[in-house]
Amino acid sequence: MKGPGSYCKFCTHHLVWSVPANDSVPRHHCPECGHVEYETPIPTVSTLLIARGKILFVRRAIPPYTGKWAPPGGYPEKGESMREAAVRELREETGLVIPQSSLIPFFLSSISPINQYYIAFRSHVSDLLDPICGPEVSAAAWFGRQDFPAEEYWLPALTSILSDVYDCIDSDHYPLHVADVTEQLFESNSFEIGGTGSS
Ligand SMILES: [Zn+2]
Repeated sequence: MKGPGSYCKFCTHHLVWSVPANDSVPRHHCPECGHVEYETPIPTVSTLLIARGKILFVRRAIPPYTGKWAPPGGYPEKGESMREAAVRELREETGLVIPQSSLIPFFLSSISPINQYYIAFRSHVSDLLDPICGPEVSAAAWFGRQDFPAEEYWLPALTSILSDVYDCIDSDHYPLHVADVTEQLFESNSFEIGGTGSS
């Protein structure tokens, strides 16, 4: 959100908060030059690296979600493709390098309570490669269904999805998952998709 002191990045006039002309919802916009600041969802990419029935997770060392486990991932940089971003984030956080061509789209989640689109790829390797923690993570480890620290997952609303992922691994069948995390589901921390998850 823009504060009351925010200025237009094009003409430096004060931004106002109201419904712009020919629009239907309030936004920060510039009454001088007409620039509108859209708060569109931010895409994040992550990689589920899979080997021998396990998935590689990292423990975040920086906010938000410090100390929580998550798949390696983050925000794409300007000019970067989604797959380039996924490969870079995996390398930065775990020291592991995989080819872009190994990334297969796996999860598309809209997480509207935090205004993010979450794109998760999967990639399969034959061995439990040794990760080397980057500066933004405090640990990296492979977890199977039994030993995954579910209570320390970065977004509890997504924890039950992991059960689906392990089901996919067990059956070696990986349909593309599409999941929408609403405000209600986000707060209830009991999100499931398609009736295939477990709570
Ligand atoms: Zn302006």
